[in-house]
Amino acid sequence: MERTTPFPSRRGLLMGAALAAVPYALFPDARAAARPQAVDHPGAAWHPASRSNYTPSNRPRAHPLHYVVVHVAQTTYSGTLSVFRNPRTKVSAHYVVRSSDGHVAQCVRETDIAWHAGNWDYNTRSIGIEHEGWVSRPKYFTDAMYQRSARLTAAICARYDIPRNRAHIIGHHEVPGSDHTDPGRHWDWKRYMRLVDKYA
Ligand SMILES: [Zn+2]
Repeated sequence: MERTTPFPSRRGLLMGAALAAVPYALFPDARAAARPQAVDHPGAAWHPASRSNYTPSNRPRAHPLHYVVVHVAQTTYSGTLSVFRNPRTKVSAHYVVRSSDGHVAQCVRETDIAWHAGNWDYNTRSIGIEHEGWVSRPKYFTDAMYQRSARLTAAICARYDIPRNRAHIIGHHEVPGSDHTDPGRHWDWKRYMRLVDKYA
C-alpha cells in the first residue's frame, strides 16, 4: 500500500480498519457506487475504491503496462477494501486477494491508475495486487491465495504482453524509491512464478 503525501503510515491503515467497524449503511455513496459493474478479471467481485484514491486514465493507450506489483496489505481483506473505500487514505490497488480462499476483489479498473507503488512512473505502468495478511505472518500466504493470485497475474501478463519474469512481476520493495518491505521474505517467489507459468 502507499499514500502519496505524506508517506504511508500505520495510523492510516488503522484508521481504515476502524472505519470497517462502522455500519455500511452510513456510507450511502459507497453503496451507490458498489452496484455491479464489469470487471477486468472473470470471477472478480467489484468493490470500487473511492474516486479520490486513483487517477482515471485510458491505459494501455495512455501508458503501456510493463509491471505487476505484488503487495502484502498489512491488514485483513475487509480492512483493505475499507481503506480503499475511504476517500481520505489516498491509496488503492487494482486487486485484493483474500487469504482463506483466494477470492479476488477488483477495486480499480485496469484502464485507470491505482495509487499503490509509491512511485508515479511505476503507478502509471503497473497493475497492483494486494494480498490479505502481514509480511511477518506467513500463515496468511495460503495455497488458495498463491493459486488465484498467480492465475490473475498470468491473465494480466497475457492481456498486456508483459513478460512473465521477475523483472516485470515485482515486489513493492523492488519499486525504485520504495520504503516498503512487502511482500517480505516469507513470500515464495519461486512457487509463485511457477504457478504464473502454469496458468499462462
Ligand atoms: Zn505494498
